[in-house]
Amino acid sequence: MDIGSFTVEVLSEGHFELFKDGHINRSARTSHSGLKPKDPSNSHTAMVGINPILVQSGNQNILLDTGLGWGLDTGSQYTDVSNVCTNLRIFGATPEDITHVILTHLHYDHAAGSSFTNAEAKTQPTFPNATYYVHQQEWDFALEQSEGKQLSYSERYRLDDFYRLVSDGRVTFLSDDSTEIMEGITVVKTGGHTPGHQIVMLESGGEKAYYLGDLLPNEYQLNDYSMEKADIYSLEAKKKKVQLLQQACDEKALLLFYHSGNGQAGHLFKDEDKKYVLAKQLPL
Ligand SMILES: [Zn+2]
Repeated sequence: MDIGSFTVEVLSEGHFELFKDGHINRSARTSHSGLKPKDPSNSHTAMVGINPILVQSGNQNILLDTGLGWGLDTGSQYTDVSNVCTNLRIFGATPEDITHVILTHLHYDHAAGSSFTNAEAKTQPTFPNATYYVHQQEWDFALEQSEGKQLSYSERYRLDDFYRLVSDGRVTFLSDDSTEIMEGITVVKTGGHTPGHQIVMLESGGEKAYYLGDLLPNEYQLNDYSMEKADIYSLEAKKKKVQLLQQACDEKALLLFYHSGNGQAGHLFKDEDKKYVLAKQLPL
């Protein structure tokens, strides 16, 4: 997909089972993308896709979230999984080519692919030439959780490896509500899902795209305004989601979904029933 001069690719890692406690398991690949299991006695609550996004512009390669990172560690038991590195190869890129990594937040399903453990059991950045961008508020909150001050939200943060990236100076912490990382790529803090959650806005050649992270994880929630239990500040998340969808619809922007079951992306508009729908091509 192109957004003006940007090329945008979805680096799908496949389908996974998301359990109530936040753990993610491998799941048999299915051709459909049903989100709710048919059997309510099932212990898992949802099927999710994992889809980091690659944005290319000239010799700049920007990664939006880094996936689960399965199989990245030297000697990993996962030898046959698709992860951010195997997926980059499909598009002719290497981890060394990545110049910027923008993390919407630090939940492990978005951030674990940021680093790996090498043969000497040392934590290394998966993208050795990249600057990683995280909102300061996200880091502060994640640290609080991990230090056990407020354990209720800690289960989705697994910071052991991320500390290394921070101490090696690879992470730039953003403190503003909106920061232009490079021309046409702006990170906007939304909060809601987590206090420092941020989204990414792409603008080029009069076209616009939004990568909404966990603020709007998949296309099935386009017209669903119930408050999500997964959001720490669910009212704030809902307000931001309503506002951003209206804005994206007015702009006929392309939406990209991290947890879409099938890497769905599309331009947002409203149908005759005033429901949001996605179109592969801009409706005329
Ligand atoms: Zn999350």
